[in-house]
Amino acid sequence: MLLISYTMFPCTTKTPSSLFPFLLYSPQFFCSFFNKTPQISRMAYSSTDQSLQRIQESRRITTGDEASTSISLEEWQGWGTISPVPSMVNKVIQDLNLLEKDINAHMTFGGNHGKLTGDFKVQEDKKHRAKYASLGNSEEKIQFFSARQIACRLLGSRGYLCQKCWLPLGDCMCSRVTMCSLWHRVRIWLYMHPKDFLRQNNTGKLLWQVFGVHAAMLCLFGIAEHEEMMWTEFNRAGKDKVWCLYPNKNAATESVKDGIGPYLAGNQDSPSISANEDDTMHFILIDGTWSNSAAMFRRLQERAELSWKHDLRCISLNTGVSLMHRLRPQPSWDRTCTAAAAIGLLYELQLLPDLSSIELNKQAEAIENALEVLLEALTTRRLRMGRSISRKGRHHDDIC
Ligand SMILES: [Zn+2]
Repeated sequence: MLLISYTMFPCTTKTPSSLFPFLLYSPQFFCSFFNKTPQISRMAYSSTDQSLQRIQESRRITTGDEASTSISLEEWQGWGTISPVPSMVNKVIQDLNLLEKDINAHMTFGGNHGKLTGDFKVQEDKKHRAKYASLGNSEEKIQFFSARQIACRLLGSRGYLCQKCWLPLGDCMCSRVTMCSLWHRVRIWLYMHPKDFLRQNNTGKLLWQVFGVHAAMLCLFGIAEHEEMMWTEFNRAGKDKVWCLYPNKNAATESVKDGIGPYLAGNQDSPSISANEDDTMHFILIDGTWSNSAAMFRRLQERAELSWKHDLRCISLNTGVSLMHRLRPQPSWDRTCTAAAAIGLLYELQLLPDLSSIELNKQAEAIENALEVLLEALTTRRLRMGRSISRKGRHHDDIC
């Protein structure tokens, strides 16, 4: 049933729906609804249409000339980041280019995810496994793993995906997304696993599509340039202004009301509260699958302890994704997507007395609208391709 990539945000149901008068159904209803896979009959398509689509889909052969260029700053930032090009990513690309020359075979990519295929893949597999094994410590291994994943996705997606919406160019949804300013004191960090980078069904990308790349920042797990940029900002802000949306079972998790309310109340007397950039509140959303999220959270926590000698503050949402009231029922919908977590966060912030006039609910609605557009684009695409919109065939990525 999964079209949308999912994260670890639980559908907790502590808050009565009466707090949210706009809810038509209880949170439980939405949680259970989205977990079902109703029987949807496939639409009939002509075999010609399907063949044409498959040809277009399999057109993932990158020519030697195309692949031999490294990633330029413009190309890199076009995918949704303001960082410099990660040096290890370009190093991996250089190595791929060298391998092409050595074995006299071009890189080819299959599927939508920038995975190498064919003879080149066989040779490259041997090479990268040997390189991985030769690395001395786990940090080097993480960085190499991430850089290689990202390099493959960048090369495989070049000229195929729209850089803004990460959908195939023919399915670009950008013209239907309306941008909106996020309140200047909130900054969202998408801490994304490399395997979710350039994934069509990722919903984290919607946040910077709507709020812009400075308000919703991409930070790729294991990419030094991204992680340094993020931690520089966190260290500037200080540990009391950084929260991670993650249900940390080993530490106290606060609600938005209990974790952020007192912070806001404590700043009430500050005359500079609305103008001072240092009063930005930073929220980390972990954008990865359940299986990857634990390692991602651990990495954040280790860094927090190193920087602050203190645990990262964790908040959990009371409302889950029940606030997705305006979305039509979607069998492909997953209850725990990243964009839904951001929506829930903004709605809960809006309920804090100190923030009631900020109209964070309107900013949440802008994400809801974009999510609706993405769901429609993905569903239309899958149906057009003659694919089921049920969960079968969910990604089973191996090392790239
Ligand atoms: Zn687009």
